[in-house]
Amino acid sequence: MDDSRSIIADGAIAVRGCDVVDLGADQTIAARTSARTVIDAQGGPVHPGLVEAHLHASFQLFRSALPDHLAEDDSFDTFESVFYNTVDDDEERISVALASAEMIRNGTTCFLEAGTVLQPATAADAAAAVGIRAVIGDAFIWDCPQGFAQGARAPHDRPTLRRTPQTFDEAVAQLGGQLWRNDDPESLVSAHIALLGLGTASESLLLRAKEAADAAGVTLNLHQSYSPADTGADRDRFGADPLVHLERIGVLADNVTLAHGNHLTDAECEALLRTGAAIAWAPAASMMWGHGACIDGRHAELHRRGVNIALGSDSPNWSNDFDLFKQANLAVLTAREAHRDRGYLTAEDGLWMATRGGAKAAGLADRIGSIEIGKRADLVIHSMRRPEITPPTDMIRNLIYSARSKTVRTVIVNGVVVLDDGKFTTIDEDELIREAAEASAALLSRMGKSVVPNQARR
Ligand SMILES: [Zn+2]
Repeated sequence: MDDSRSIIADGAIAVRGCDVVDLGADQTIAARTSARTVIDAQGGPVHPGLVEAHLHASFQLFRSALPDHLAEDDSFDTFESVFYNTVDDDEERISVALASAEMIRNGTTCFLEAGTVLQPATAADAAAAVGIRAVIGDAFIWDCPQGFAQGARAPHDRPTLRRTPQTFDEAVAQLGGQLWRNDDPESLVSAHIALLGLGTASESLLLRAKEAADAAGVTLNLHQSYSPADTGADRDRFGADPLVHLERIGVLADNVTLAHGNHLTDAECEALLRTGAAIAWAPAASMMWGHGACIDGRHAELHRRGVNIALGSDSPNWSNDFDLFKQANLAVLTAREAHRDRGYLTAEDGLWMATRGGAKAAGLADRIGSIEIGKRADLVIHSMRRPEITPPTDMIRNLIYSARSKTVRTVIVNGVVVLDDGKFTTIDEDELIREAAEASAALLSRMGKSVVPNQARR
């Protein structure tokens, strides 16, 4: 996934510390390298770790708890808000660890968290314990929480999240609280500036967050134009298409990543092209809630026109798994369906969005997203011992269309083998799964929520 999308048959990669230091033909690299450890990929494809560009890492403990008949307008009011007013730091830790383990198993080596873990330090520790690269933000930076719009209805009276800022001053006091993590360039966990978005940031807060991101040289990340509700609410308050207004006030730039961007006008597409801002496209999140963004959305068109489109899994209940191979597969196939054109996006486009696209969206384009000398050794090795990857014809088409995450065998992050031939080296996975199941039951009980089956359709 370098600029010329090189593919090396019978290749080898030399890693020292956390970096790739050499790569090329197996014979050449073997002749000039003396390695302490050799990992034989056994003919399996090796690609850069996938980069998750939109993720809520702490919802794992209520995955699949929302029934299919729940309206999205009610999801925050009756469920998510109760979760946030109940969850404790240890439950967040377990949840982020579970999310991280799931991502590693699916070939994702880095995630950009949406700024929705109440205790960001917990998220950082949990991710580091599993061994995944994480880019975290402060929690719930918003100053108009009552502007929150999600689903179809306009903003309405919402329950308050007790542990989150409520005013501009409270939000600014927390903004940038994780940026100290960037002092160590080799650290597995780094920080960005996150706003929640969806109508919850005043223009003053948007500007302040952009200034903070610029000063720190990091990504500014927020939800934008996810559903008709937040898109309409922003259009009403700005008196213009939301992205047009954001460009006008200087908030749209090439260090800005907008999660979703499902509902865009022609003028907003032009604003993205002019400014270089990125979109984290979460195809399954739209499809789960029926927003039509894979039909009416502009993501595939914008990718073809040169806008940076990354991929995201959003959250458990908005995807519900953290598997970028699934998102890449959906992105490529739904684009063809929408445009009635088999070649509209190719398997290579899907892999690009999941690697280079994500790396740039996370502000780490100089470090990850491709296997190149000087970049971090974030590598995924697939097994050839599965039917889905057989026969070994075109390996990129095999990876995006059939093998996907099923054949992920060994995962290396920052030069460390985290998953070794299907087994974690960093955590006791069985123990984590047991702990998560127990914690979920206890949390749902404290929330007063019972999980109900879907209503039968008559
Ligand atoms: Zn989200």
